Amino acid sequence: MSPIPRPKLPIHRLLGISLACFFAAGLLAYHSLKTPSQVTTKTTPTQPRSEATTAPLASSAGSPTPTPTLSPAERQAKYGPCVYLPVLMFHHVNTTEAATAGKYTSLNVTPEYLQADLSYLTSRGYTIVSVTALADFFENGTPIAKKSVILTFDDGYQDFVSQAAPILEAAQASATLFVPTGLIDNPPTYATWGQLQSLPTNLFYFGNHTWSHKAAGGDVKIETYEITTADTQLNDHSMNAAKIFAYPYGTPSKVDQDVLASLSYSIAFTTTHGAWQCKGQRYTLPRIRVGNAPLSAYGL
Ligand SMILES: [Zn+2]
Repeated sequence: MSPIPRPKLPIHRLLGISLACFFAAGLLAYHSLKTPSQVTTKTTPTQPRSEATTAPLASSAGSPTPTPTLSPAERQAKYGPCVYLPVLMFHHVNTTEAATAGKYTSLNVTPEYLQADLSYLTSRGYTIVSVTALADFFENGTPIAKKSVILTFDDGYQDFVSQAAPILEAAQASATLFVPTGLIDNPPTYATWGQLQSLPTNLFYFGNHTWSHKAAGGDVKIETYEITTADTQLNDHSMNAAKIFAYPYGTPSKVDQDVLASLSYSIAFTTTHGAWQCKGQRYTLPRIRVGNAPLSAYGL
């Protein structure tokens, strides 16, 4: 096993500097920038909660349907091949009471809403596909059925295991968890490696979310450490088959993209709002953040 240390309990909930931006005029995107504790040594991350910002959910600002800046033909020519494939982004799944007590209501979807989301997708003829379907599309041109959707859950929270996984398993719905590996094994907030490894591998995939949940930056040494350490820890736990990444706080950096390419990552998600997935933008792919509102509010 690798000598990478385990983190201390994440008792420091450093709020850092949050910046939530709304872009109206049809395109809704938000970026949350924080200043997490810098990784200067190979010690342990003292990372706070993740994207707990004041950024409102898409549903609170009207229709999130983006106004494309390119026509489908132009998009295809510039970034193609492309596929229309909503990638839904969740964080916590827990009761309102638990979310209120934990101060993460803005990141929470209740189990009832998750169940309703799955029922809605089924009733509207959607197929939930795994993230590997998108990688296959990019790598091999494997077609993706119309009305497909991908489910992603960020941060490896304990409530994914206790609340979300049973609902997803009952529906045989595939999902991807983006894991900040240095924060794992910190109950009760974060899941343990054992819990994640106990999830059925035919349904659940795991992705790199850096080691300390570090926002993408420009320091090659730090970015390389963050991404390669998480890559190694996922490998060590046999959880890195998909080789996918999500930027903590959603904003990509060129340095991070170079590191991901050097490690042969297939795709990387931002939190930019959108549903067109293009190979030419494989390291800056959009997602749709959903909350406690019907999926119809998010364009599905
Ligand atoms: Zn995150």
